[in-house]
Amino acid sequence: MTTRVGILGATGAVGQRLVQLLDPHPEFEIACVTASDDSAGRPYGEAANWRIDVPMPDALADLDVARTEPDAIPDDVPLLFSSLPSAVGERVEPPLCEAGYVVSSNSSNDRMADDVPLTIPEVNGDHLDLIEVQRDSRDWDGALVKNPNCSTITAVPPLAALAEFGLETAHVATMQAVSGGGYSGVTSMEIIDNVLPHIGGEEEKVETEPTKLLGEFDGAEVKRHEVDIAASCNRVATVDGHLESVWADTREDITADDAARAMRELPALDLHSSPDQFIEVFEDPDRPQPRLDRMVGGGMSVAAGGLRETTRGVQFNCLAHNTLRGAAGASVLNGELLVERGWV
Ligand code: NAP
Repeated sequence: MTTRVGILGATGAVGQRLVQLLDPHPEFEIACVTASDDSAGRPYGEAANWRIDVPMPDALADLDVARTEPDAIPDDVPLLFSSLPSAVGERVEPPLCEAGYVVSSNSSNDRMADDVPLTIPEVNGDHLDLIEVQRDSRDWDGALVKNPNCSTITAVPPLAALAEFGLETAHVATMQAVSGGGYSGVTSMEIIDNVLPHIGGEEEKVETEPTKLLGEFDGAEVKRHEVDIAASCNRVATVDGHLESVWADTREDITADDAARAMRELPALDLHSSPDQFIEVFEDPDRPQPRLDRMVGGGMSVAAGGLRETTRGVQFNCLAHNTLRGAAGASVLNGELLVERGWV
């Protein structure tokens, strides 16, 4: 039996990727799409300025875009995927959860709230059980589940693999694609022949979200991991795929081979959108590269390479497709896990 789902912010960069991943999908059927009041009431095919390199599904073109509020969403759509600007998500997601919808969201609002699961299924799927705490404390029938920021999701899987060596600190320098800023992000005059050495709010997300993702859920709360992270976030002139250089210091001695083994051994899951290999480790020191490697595992693997020992740990590069594994694919995977675990 398929679950009827809705997409909030369906006309945007991440919303279009959600449409791509959800039509067709063996477990989900898109029943409703929403966007801003400018788009509401228009057919999706007209309201969405379609810009991804796969055709828009025929069935979606004629579907009318709904307003983004509880009374505009049918009751028989239990699961909503949200790709709204965070200020909008902050305003509309909690009332939707209160009205009984389960919301799997990309937006940054509420990611660090103590009772909101912030989840990468392969890393901390058990944190979904925090929903029990959330429902008790907020008196909701629905639930709010978040996936991390696209640059966090690139670095955290390799860092999770290094946790067994006593991960203490990590320094991260990102090279982030322009699609990460959405369609109204940077202009061509800003980014061509250039690198922008600042992305507002991004460094704080990369420095804080991993402490929750790598934390331990004890049945009542997530005890934060004590890893100390410093980040520098940069926008570069690639279209898709965030490449990051990471220096990780560990308490125990570690070789590049130890790190590669631990990364390769981090298990993939058996969900529809899971890649066969969660972290693809390249031997070639000049890989991964955004243009060549962002589609490893159908855009759902994390790629790593350039592993070498440093005086206090290892240095490596990692890459993930920011609108697939880093956004739409991340919330679809969370949605699949929510269904598998009976939360929807
Ligand atoms: P975007 O391209 O600007 O799309 C925004 C979407 O939200 C559009 O569908 C827009 O509808 C809708 N919207 C805007 N204002 C609204 C309002 N007041 N009420 C209801 N809907 C409204 O942005 P995006 O890049 O897809 O990002 C969406 C969210 O995902 C953001 O929170 C972002 O931080 C997060 N995210 C993005 C990435 C990425 O790689 N792009 C990665 C991770 C997380 P209209 O078309 O009608 O304006």
